[in-house]
Amino acid sequence: MAQASAPRFFFKGCNLRCIWCQNPESIDPSYEIGFYSGDCIECGDCVKVCKTGAIQIDNPLKIDRGKCDRCGDCLEVCPGMGLRKIGHFYPIEELIPILLRDKVFYEVSGGGVTLSGGEPTFHMGYISSLLQELKMWGIHTAIQTNGFFEWSEFEAKVLNWADLIMFDVKLADSKGHLKYTGQENHLILKNLARLLEERPKDVIPRIPLIPGITATTQNLQAISELLQGLGVTKCSLLPYNPTGLSKAENIGKAVAPILSRHIMTPEEVKSCKQIFLWADLIEF
Ligand code: SF4
Ligand code: SF4
Repeated sequence: MAQASAPRFFFKGCNLRCIWCQNPESIDPSYEIGFYSGDCIECGDCVKVCKTGAIQIDNPLKIDRGKCDRCGDCLEVCPGMGLRKIGHFYPIEELIPILLRDKVFYEVSGGGVTLSGGEPTFHMGYISSLLQELKMWGIHTAIQTNGFFEWSEFEAKVLNWADLIMFDVKLADSKGHLKYTGQENHLILKNLARLLEERPKDVIPRIPLIPGITATTQNLQAISELLQGLGVTKCSLLPYNPTGLSKAENIGKAVAPILSRHIMTPEEVKSCKQIFLWADLIEF
C-alpha cells in the first residue's frame, strides 16, 4: 500500500509512532479516508450512504473513525474532493512503468527514485523486488528509513540495491526516544553503526528538528557527538514543518499539544546548525 509521487514513492505503514510525523497518513498500512473541509459542499450524500452511521453533518462534517469500516461507499458519492481515498496498492509490474516514465529526466538531472514513507523497510520483500528492478533499468535508488529494522533482513534484501540511504536519527536518549516515537533507539543506533561500517559513503544521517523535542541543545549535542564518534562527515538537518498537523486532522488523528503550529525561524535553524559545524550539512 503506497502513495505514488515519482520520483519519491511514499509507503504506507510504519513501526514507529513519532508524535510529530510529517506524513501521518503513511503510518497505517491500509488505505484511509481523508476528509478535507475546504472541499466539502455539505451536500450530505455521504451521510445517506454510510451504513455504519459513522458520518455526522456538523460544522465541519465529522467521521467517527471507530465506527468507519473503510467500505469506501462515501467516496463513491462525494461530488467533489471532500472525501479522498489515501493509499493504493501498486503491483510492481504496474509501478515500474510509472517510474520509468521519468527515466530521461533522471538521466539528465542525475536523479533517481527515492523510497520514503511511512517506513519502506516495513515492506522489506516488496522494496527488495522494486529496488532490484530499478537497478536493472540503471536507475539510481535511494531509501529514507527510520532505521528500525532487522539487520539481517535488510542486508539480504535491500542493502545491495540501495545506492543512497538516508537514515533518521531523532533522539539520543533512549527513554526520550521511547516516549516520543513509541520505541527505544538501541536497534536503530546499532543499525546505523553497522551501515556506516559497510557503506560509509552512501549513508546520510538526517536529524528532524522538532521544537522542544529533538531540537534541544542537549539532544543535538548528544547526536552530534554520537555521529562524530561513528566517523560521520556529512549529515542533514530537517527543519520542522507543521503541515503534518493538518494532515493528521484530515484523517481524524489527535495532534499532541506540545507541537508547534509555526515553521522554524531562520535564527532557530541557524542555532541548531551551529552544533553541527563540523559536518558537511546538506538540506533536502
Ligand atoms: S468508508 Fe464506509 S463506513 Fe467509513 S465513513 Fe465512508 S461510508 Fe461510512
Ligand atoms: S459527500 Fe462530500 S461534499 Fe457531500 S457532505 Fe460528504 S464530504 Fe461533503
